This record gives sequence, structure tokens and C-alpha cells, in this order.
Amino acid sequence: MFRFQKTLSQRLQISGIGLHSGKLMELVLIPLPEDSGIWFQRVDNPGARPICASTENVSDTSLATSIGAGDEKVGTLEHLLAALGGLGISNLKVEVNGPEVPILDGSAAPWATMLQKAGVKTLNAPRPFYLVKKAFALEDATGEKFISVSPASSFSLECSIEFPGYVKNQSKYFSFSKSAFVRDICPARTFCLEKDVEMMRQNNLALGGSLDNAVVIGTNGEILNPEGLRFPDECVRHKILDFLGDLTLAQYPIIGHFSAYKTGHALNQEFLKNILKKPGILEKVMPELEFTGFELPITGVALAS
Ligand SMILES: [Zn+2]
Repeated sequence: MFRFQKTLSQRLQISGIGLHSGKLMELVLIPLPEDSGIWFQRVDNPGARPICASTENVSDTSLATSIGAGDEKVGTLEHLLAALGGLGISNLKVEVNGPEVPILDGSAAPWATMLQKAGVKTLNAPRPFYLVKKAFALEDATGEKFISVSPASSFSLECSIEFPGYVKNQSKYFSFSKSAFVRDICPARTFCLEKDVEMMRQNNLALGGSLDNAVVIGTNGEILNPEGLRFPDECVRHKILDFLGDLTLAQYPIIGHFSAYKTGHALNQEFLKNILKKPGILEKVMPELEFTGFELPITGVALAS
């Protein structure tokens, strides 16, 4: 995780197709000073207020993570949020001229590349974080999916998925470092089953979806994309990416060991709300740092610059 707050060095303009609307979305990323947080604002609707990217503003988790409602709603945030979180950027305003963030190639690699090219600026303020003090676990109503967290000296995640008949069990352990995030997690694309594509189209969803922005898995588990997979376990890597994106809605990094089985955006958010609300699980730590020094604020907790 990161010791100092960060923003972008300059404004960044990006455009691309929205996965669900199929429309061209234009985004402007605007640097903000320390302690601002990440904000999204619809600029196509006059009067739409900026919405803070935080757990309490999450309004929809059905296929992607959305915040805000009505004319102020912005969806498909998670890959951009994952890239921001992975690079330690926590102060930014994102203006968007429609209801969703562009899907780009379905991964976070283009986001990470563009953000780093624009420049990540370190601010002269320490970054608060949450330390996990007590273990907590949550499963969904079916008992098929679960997430747990336990105290640890750095951030790590063990993630597993399985879609019988389509994706065999894939498990991956991820210990956070910026370089491992950019190299091993960012390039993993979103995936869907061919049989679900028609259902989504009938519901006016995934109108912008194509083999250019998703891995599509056929009826016998075969990969329909001519270029194949980027990693043999690309699907579980993408689940890690989504999880990291969803976690950024806690607004501060969480230092602990997570375990996630067959999770998705809905359970991720329910879990996050629980650990933020239930007393005794997280402790918010305000590091008191010598700005010129490199001593860690808390013994045994791994932080990066
Ligand atoms: Zn995703």
C-alpha cells in the first residue's frame, strides 16, 4: 500500500465505448488536492452532483459496480477504480458524459498505462489506512460464495473461482505490490459465457460488448477469442482485479489477508459494508510520518512510497 496520498500530475482525457450502453463515453480525469477522495460527475446532465466513490453511494452491483442514482448514476467503475487503487491515486475527479466508464479492452491495463503516462503525483500528506484487527467472514444466501479477512502485516488475497462445465477451478494468491499488480492483474480481461450474451442483449445490456473487450467462453468451455487467453488463469486474475476495484470504495487501503471464493460485485460490497460498519474489525490508522524519513509508521505493516 502507499504511505503518501497521490493524484494525477495533469488532466487526462479518455474516450471509449460503454459496455452496456454501446455508446461512446468521454471522460476527463482531473487532479484534486489531498484528502479529497475520488469523485464521479455526469456532465451530460446539467445539475448532476458529483458522487463520491464510496461504499455508501453504491447503487447497483448486478453486472458491474455503479454509484449514484437516476441522472447522476455512473456504472462500470471497477476497472478504473482498481487501476487508481493499485497506483495509489486517491484524489481525483472523473467527469463523464454518460452513464458508464468506457470498457476499453475489458481489463485495467489501458487505464494503468494511461494513468502512469499522464504521471502520478505524490502529495505532501500521509495516506490513512485500515488495519484489520479481527477476522470476519461472510457468505451469500446460497452458501456457495464467501469472503473472509484476517489480520496480516500487508495486503494479500487468495481468490478462487469455478464455473462447472465452463471454467475449471482456478485459484490465485496475490500479494500486493505495484509492479505485481500492473504485470499480473491489470491485463486480465472480463469474461462471460456465450450463453449469457444473448440474454444480456435481450435486456439491453452488453450492447457494446465484443470479443475486443471480453473473453467469451463457449458452450464446451472453449475460448471464442481468436487470440486466446492472456494468462491460462486469466479469469481468476480478473476476479482479483474486480475485487481490488470494489475494495477502493472503502476509500482507504485495507491491510489484511482476504480470501474470496466465487465472489462478485454484490458480495464484495456487502462484505465491505459489514467490515466498515461492525465495530472492532477495522482500525483506521493515521500515519504520523516524518515527510523526509522512511521509517514505517507501524511496526510490521508493509507500506510502499
Ligand atoms: Zn471486471
